[in-house]
Amino acid sequence: MNDTLQPAGEAAAPVHPMVRFAGVTKRYGPLTVLNGLDLAVAAHEKVAIIGPSGSGKTTVLRLLMTLEEVDAGVIEVDGQPLTHMVRDGQLVRADRAHLRRMRGRIGMVFQHFNLFPHMTALQNCMEAPVTVLGLHRDEARERAGELLAMVGLADKLDHHPAQLSGGQQQRVAIARALAMRPQVLLFDEVTSALDPELCGEVLSVIRDLGRAHSVTMLMVTHQMGFAREFADRVCFFDQGRILEQGPAEALFAQPREARTRQFLRAVM
Ligand code: ADP
Repeated sequence: MNDTLQPAGEAAAPVHPMVRFAGVTKRYGPLTVLNGLDLAVAAHEKVAIIGPSGSGKTTVLRLLMTLEEVDAGVIEVDGQPLTHMVRDGQLVRADRAHLRRMRGRIGMVFQHFNLFPHMTALQNCMEAPVTVLGLHRDEARERAGELLAMVGLADKLDHHPAQLSGGQQQRVAIARALAMRPQVLLFDEVTSALDPELCGEVLSVIRDLGRAHSVTMLMVTHQMGFAREFADRVCFFDQGRILEQGPAEALFAQPREARTRQFLRAVM
């Protein structure tokens, strides 16, 4: 591993990043989706990932969730390799206990909510804390209730997903992710499947979360207005790399690269 690696662009790498991609390459057959990606995200930082379709944005999140494996390079979370461990000075493939520990540090909210349809909102938020973290049911129920209240659903605890609007389902999904007390929270185009009038309520929950919680956030989004307002840093992806990145205001107001300008003109 190379400690001198810096992310592309002018932003300096955080000294102790919460998330770090170093030289990460990911291929699907002949297609190179991520091409030597370097990305370091500081603890508590909120990073928005934007860019054209197919540029590898979602793959970054899927790799962090260990839903995919890298072909080259290293991913670290809180200083520890995600899928490998150091043993006798060598990097070896991690055992299941390490993977489970690392996965527990990361929560993800998906585009299509992915709630358990046969469970109520409350049960959706209790399931993993009980089965994975081993929390007592009473404690899990209390915490799930608090989180659902926080996302504005205190009166929907006993509703099943089918009885909730898309925006409400997505808010349950956010509460469910938080119930695992992750250090890192990933959002994958969480408003893309929602009618425009329902986007606002989900974005507003994420905005409040950002203020109230110190969790590190990585967000793939097509909502440029939200990225601009919410993110500490915006990374523009193109062809599996970060072409340009910087503070949200600077990147949107004065993009340096012609490709970034072209993209922003097309989507804003
Ligand atoms: P983005 O989120 O920027 O739209 P993705 O990370 O989802 O891009 O995907 C990047 C490229 O990888 C796309 O061309 C996509 O079709 C391809 N891809 C993603 N997942 C797979 C897979 N499981 N098998 C083959 N190709 C895939």
